[in-house]
Amino acid sequence: NTRVVLAARPQGRPKPGDFRIEAVEIVEPGEGELLLQILYLSLDPYMRGRMNAAKSYAKPVEIDAVMEGGTVARIIKSRHPEFAEGDIVLSHSGWQSFALSDGVGLRKLDPAAAPVTTALGVLGMPGFTAYAGLLTIGQPRPGETVVVAATSGAVGSAVGQIARIKGARAVGIAGGAEKCAFVRQELGFDAVVDHRAADFVGQLKAACPDGIDIYFENVGGPVWDAVFPLLNEFARVPVCGLIAQYNVIADSGIDRLPTLMQQVLQRSLTIRGFIQREFVDPRPAFYRDMADWIASGRVRYREDIVDGIENAPQAFLGLLEGKNFGKLIVRVAG
Ligand code: NDP
Repeated sequence: NTRVVLAARPQGRPKPGDFRIEAVEIVEPGEGELLLQILYLSLDPYMRGRMNAAKSYAKPVEIDAVMEGGTVARIIKSRHPEFAEGDIVLSHSGWQSFALSDGVGLRKLDPAAAPVTTALGVLGMPGFTAYAGLLTIGQPRPGETVVVAATSGAVGSAVGQIARIKGARAVGIAGGAEKCAFVRQELGFDAVVDHRAADFVGQLKAACPDGIDIYFENVGGPVWDAVFPLLNEFARVPVCGLIAQYNVIADSGIDRLPTLMQQVLQRSLTIRGFIQREFVDPRPAFYRDMADWIASGRVRYREDIVDGIENAPQAFLGLLEGKNFGKLIVRVAG
């Protein structure tokens, strides 16, 4: 069993030495247990938070423990009545090639219904994050302008496409010409702006002539600074992620809170953070709607698949710098 453990807690930007790759014996399943062979591992921005010691909305990964993560696995030995050898399941087995499970929290997947990797992306946690955050907090209405950054990625790509399905205008923000072309041409956003362009602020303003009604916040930092003045009265801001800030150790020292609060009041803004798992009610509708939208071609998705568990650390470091192009997944086996 090859596994990736957390070797050290990063200060700021993580480096390869913060991870360690180990080879350990595969353990046989006991009564009521399953042995899983991991096929695919999902790499997600939240894993950066788990590398810190500070308690957040979830517990940190301990030093020398296997890095946490969502996985698609094949059951290769079953001593559990509800699962058979050969079943493909969604599990949370972490960065390793084999894992034991007691069956709790596993979800059986039907490989005939959709490619199994989609259970880690558009039909899984990131897709649900987009769906629940946009529809519950954002509540897009026809004709409104919805802006989202990290827009070629797992969450952002779904946000803009769902916004369009609801009749809103979708404006994406992405890093670099290739991602921007994909978002405009393949995903069908109404406009897209490159946050690395020298005149990003002016381009964003030009792309939103009627202001911004919903800003789905994925990144924070300079992108938020450009968006904030454009928010309309009664704008809604689902705060989903702040990836530009995950590696920042010290803040600028400038207190921007009084200005923010003044504008929240004067423009009647709704700014609400969320963690996707707090939404329970929209889950059945998500699975139904998203499967329909994918089947009808109204939602498209892109996956960025990296081969080999030993390449997971490098791929993860790249994710924090925008080197991935689409939902980042490691093919571990199969
Ligand atoms: P993506 O697949 O979109 O990958 C991350 C992308 O973020 C990169 O490709 C890059 O895109 C962009 N990015 C990275 N650094 C910066 C930066 N400094 N400034 C601007 N953009 C940057 O990731 P996900 O779709 O999985 O996640 C998107 C966001 O959603 C993250 O913030 C994540 O933490 C959050 N999230 C929150 C959940 C919740 O429950 N609240 C659940 C799931 C995700 P580009 O090159 O285009 O800039």
